[in-house]
Amino acid sequence: MNTLESLVRPNIAALTPYSTARDEYTGPLGVFLDANESPFDNGFNRYPDPHQKALKAQIAAMRGIDPANLFLGNGSDEAIDLIYRVFCEPGRDNVIAITPSYGMYGVAAAINNVELREVELGENFSLPTEALLAAVDAHTKAIFLCSPNNPTGNAFAREELLHIADRFSGITVVDEAYVDFSSVPSLRSEVTSHPRLVVLQTLSKAWGMAGLRLGMAIADAPIIRLMSMVKYPYNINEAALRTVSELLQTPVDGQILTILAEREALASALHNYSFVRRIYPSDANFLLVQVDDANALYNHLVQSGIIVRNRNSVRLCAGCLRISVGLPVENRQLLAALTEYEA
Ligand SMILES: *Cc1c(COP(=O)(O)O)cnc(C)c1O
Repeated sequence: MNTLESLVRPNIAALTPYSTARDEYTGPLGVFLDANESPFDNGFNRYPDPHQKALKAQIAAMRGIDPANLFLGNGSDEAIDLIYRVFCEPGRDNVIAITPSYGMYGVAAAINNVELREVELGENFSLPTEALLAAVDAHTKAIFLCSPNNPTGNAFAREELLHIADRFSGITVVDEAYVDFSSVPSLRSEVTSHPRLVVLQTLSKAWGMAGLRLGMAIADAPIIRLMSMVKYPYNINEAALRTVSELLQTPVDGQILTILAEREALASALHNYSFVRRIYPSDANFLLVQVDDANALYNHLVQSGIIVRNRNSVRLCAGCLRISVGLPVENRQLLAALTEYEA
């Protein structure tokens, strides 16, 4: 088994991170003449806390984890990019991802000049465990898994994901962007017993804060330290820190229950249309639906002012549209547009 040190890029292992004067200052609230900020208080004239201590404490308490196991990023997209920047030597190392899955694993790989090896999902979008492990070579630094998976909607069993994390000597990333909608519980409690496991979560979906850009990585403390060292010092701005903290006070359990009920209602209503071939089971807040002519239906919906995600050209998703579950009134509008299409 690789130690974490042997997985990290040498330049990152040797990095002296940016430090602020306020990192050294621990006394009572003082006079801050260290950062060339404006002294005139408008609510945002000071730099935000680069360690995000208060928000981390709040989220860690809610998630039942230690703040030392929590990284906060500008969306989970930042965490994905940082995994490449911390572990993958451009032009040499590679990562593996399931396909079809979230597009950012590939975009971040391309930006960082890291080879992405895509392994197709198995029958019924099952996890291709043996094929994933067979794609590993001496330069494979990470495997990206997404559960519930986007765009297929299904969640993988915890044991299957942990089995890969145990057998793979690199970093196993499990992207749980949709976990709040899933019947399969999060792997976040496993990160201290699986030191190379990184669990990604986000406030962009169930928590309704896509516009604030707050993503998380949950991992063993040494991985969190590496990611924190490489991130921009002030990656979460003060407006986001405050607004997220405030919005987190209002639970979203009721909204999640509404989405789940609407998802089931939408799925059963969709079965009634002759052009619907297949509705894939979903553990997320969207449905992947295979229809007779995905492009024609997509265009009809656009004409009706309804935008869905056309996945027709994605491997294993031919004929498929991905439809987010909306408000009850929005879902009724969708069904009305489908009825019009059928006529
Ligand atoms: C939506 C989504 C995210 C969220 O990314 P943010 O940058 O946190 O908004 C991450 N992973 C997957 C699979 C997603 O579908």
